This record gives sequence, structure tokens and C-alpha cells, in this order.
Amino acid sequence: MHTQEIGKNLYQVDLETGGFKNLICSYILRGSKIIIVESGPTSSVPILADGLKELNFRLEDVEYVAVTHVHLDHGGGAGTLLKALPNAKVIVHPRGMPHLIDPQRLWESAQSVLGFVSEIFGEPEPVPKERIIPITEGSFDLDSGAKLKVIETVGHASHSLSFHESFNNGVFPGDAAGTYFPEFDVVIPTTPPPFHLDSALASLDKLISLNPSVLYYSHFGKASNAVQRLIDYKLQLQLWSRIAEQGVRQNKSLLEIRDGILAEDTVMRRLGGYLKSHKIYSKTALGNSVQGFIDYDKQKSS
Ligand SMILES: [Zn+2]
Repeated sequence: MHTQEIGKNLYQVDLETGGFKNLICSYILRGSKIIIVESGPTSSVPILADGLKELNFRLEDVEYVAVTHVHLDHGGGAGTLLKALPNAKVIVHPRGMPHLIDPQRLWESAQSVLGFVSEIFGEPEPVPKERIIPITEGSFDLDSGAKLKVIETVGHASHSLSFHESFNNGVFPGDAAGTYFPEFDVVIPTTPPPFHLDSALASLDKLISLNPSVLYYSHFGKASNAVQRLIDYKLQLQLWSRIAEQGVRQNKSLLEIRDGILAEDTVMRRLGGYLKSHKIYSKTALGNSVQGFIDYDKQKSS
């Protein structure tokens, strides 16, 4: 079983990318039509399709695939997925659209930033232009007055969107609210370069102002106390930023700055050992995310 009912008309699919459970999920919203949130990566599309089958949904009833951004783990599989969904269109930020139409540059940059992790996600296939809905703000009908609302939440990427669904008053933040570890009930920053702190904080304020009850993290799963988590995430970003800024001023290396974060952030003190031993998070969370703050600080002061 890959799927789980997690709310009214809402299902989660564990994509088990690369064999890792609790790493990436997609969500399926069932209204008068079906909306998938996050295609996930190319390599996981067969599991998402299995999930639809498991829930007895027909592929032709999927109307939209809403991707929070085009990074391989969120929107990379859109082109492959659309081949299986004859009537679906992709909802994406306009700045992400060119990368869906022609994913070559995205693939090359993912290979250089993510290394072996990009191979686990798989190479994206193009999405036909006429099957893309570029949007930064607006809403889509779910059923009898319920809506999926689009919110522009840049910062993690310059083209990040979040989605709010009114069945359960929940938000799909993509990577705008960090990575959630349900086993530990904590969140850590997801801030690879090019990360923009000020935009990320403003985006979190936008999500807080919606007063959501629940968050549906793409990494990973549903979490309650949404507003408090968003507030805490802002504080955590500010803490990492202060540590990185000080480290850059003292000419510290990435590893030294990372160790400063592991020592000073109470969440990281708890999770550090787990992250260090995780094949993917040791590279992304402890490498790329720290680099995002370093680069942001250097570019801000240059
Ligand atoms: Zn991600």
C-alpha cells in the first residue's frame, strides 16, 4: 500500500523514490475532478500511477497536476506523468514553465548541484506547452464551493508556489516551509542555492496570514499546528542565516558552518546523527541547504 487517506477528499502517496520511504510524497485531491499535487520525480511516476489505481481513480479523470516548483523531486516527473493522464494539465509558476517545456538545462544544473541524487530522481521528460497553465495567483474549483488556491511563495526557488485547499483548510507548501520528519516531528531548512532568505520569510508570512490548520509537506507528510510550525520555521531560517553570516565573515568552510548549525540549532542537535547517516539528507540537508545560506550572504554583501 502506497496510499493513505489523510483528510476530507485527500490522499497521500508515498513515492518511495529510490526505495526510500518517507522521502517524497504526492497528494491527490478528489473533488468533482481529481487534482494531483506534485508529480514527484520521473523515477517515481509508476508508483504514483499505482497509487491512483489503488484508490480506484481513473487516469482520465485527473484534471490537473499542480507542481509547487520544477525541481526534479517535485515537478521532474510531470512530463512522464502526463503521458499517462490524457486529460490533465500542469499548474506551474510562469518562471518554471520554460523548464517543463525544455528540461535540458534543469537536468544539467540538477546533476551538478545534486550529483548522484539527480540520478535517483531520473531525467525529466518535456511537457507539451499547450498542456501547461502558468499562474502565480488564482484558484481552481474543487467541488461545491471548495477551492484550490494558488499562492506565490518564492524564496526556496524564484518560481515556488504553494496551494491551499479548503476541504480541510490545509496548505501544500512544497519546499517553502522546510522538510518535515514525521518520525521526529521536527522541521529543518530546505534551502539549496539559489536561496533567497528575504523572499522566503515574506512567503512564510503569506502562508501564516491564511491561518491554515494543517500543512502537507512534500518531504514528508501531514502535520498539524500549521501556523506555529511556519512561525518556528521563520525563526530557524533566521538562526541559520546568523550562523552562516558570522561564518562567512570569519572565512569558515562549509563544514565548519555546518558544524556550527549542528551545535546551535536545537532541532539539528537532535537530528544531526540521523541526517549524517542518511544517504540523501547528508548531501542535501547538511550540504546544499547550508550552501544556500552561504551563497545568499555572499551575494547580499557583494
Ligand atoms: Zn524538494
